[in-house]
Amino acid sequence: MRPVRELILKAQNLKVAFGGVQALDLDLFKLEENELRVIIGPNGAGKSTFMDLICGKTKADSGKVLFKNQEILGKKEVEIAQMGIGRKFQKPSVFSGLSVYDNLLLAYQMPKDVWSSIRFKINSAVVDRIHAIAKKVGLENFLEVEAGGLSHGQKQWLEIGIVVIQNPKLMLIDEPAAGMSDTETAKTGDLILSLTEEHSVIVIEHDMNFVEQIAIEKVSVLVRGKLLTEGPFKDIRADERVINSYLGKAV
Ligand code: ADP
Ligand code: MG
Repeated sequence: MRPVRELILKAQNLKVAFGGVQALDLDLFKLEENELRVIIGPNGAGKSTFMDLICGKTKADSGKVLFKNQEILGKKEVEIAQMGIGRKFQKPSVFSGLSVYDNLLLAYQMPKDVWSSIRFKINSAVVDRIHAIAKKVGLENFLEVEAGGLSHGQKQWLEIGIVVIQNPKLMLIDEPAAGMSDTETAKTGDLILSLTEEHSVIVIEHDMNFVEQIAIEKVSVLVRGKLLTEGPFKDIRADERVINSYLGKAV
């Protein structure tokens, strides 16, 4: 039996509407430490909105989100980042004019407060960490390359590296395999699987081959803002309701 893991995230009665459209209406969502959860569902189901609410980018209309037993709704994005939640957005947003190394260096300093940023010194521990993260995301031979010159897949990996180097307890990763080749997708899957050694991870994804690769734990299905069901991928894939509302169209 696997060891009992602490709860790291609990969202309850979480609601937000945009212009009268209920984008999210989530009764209960729980995530454990070092868990890897995959969220699937049709376009517009509220998947990205859920991540926007957790990281403070969007304000909820009502509900609760406890992270390590602390309420995070109402906190600023930067406070939530400092508490240990890192977000990778759908579109890569690396600094194109800076090298891979400098992008990672900037990210390393980012969640710190102003005073520790001012006192920040680049020592060998920092350099070692940048190299270790670059290796983890497959960019160890691209450290001096400008991020703008990387392939689409490499930009996505750099962005995952930018989140990892900040060492969040919880990582939110939105559609990491979008636009990737099959080989890049499989490498991204291996990378995400390796993240659970040190982080809890929530991944939103559409590519069912990719989902099959990474869904070693639970999959949650969102449809029209509501949690339709959750469970092991083999059950989800065979679930009539999931097939009718999503998979029938997606595959
Ligand atoms: P998904 O990521 O599952 O495709 P989203 O969370 O992006 O879906 O969107 C859910 C719904 O909320 C959609 O109808 C979308 O148009 C709407 N929506 C999302 N974010 C905003 C926003 N910031 N302002 C207005 N409407 C939004
Ligand atoms: Mg989305």
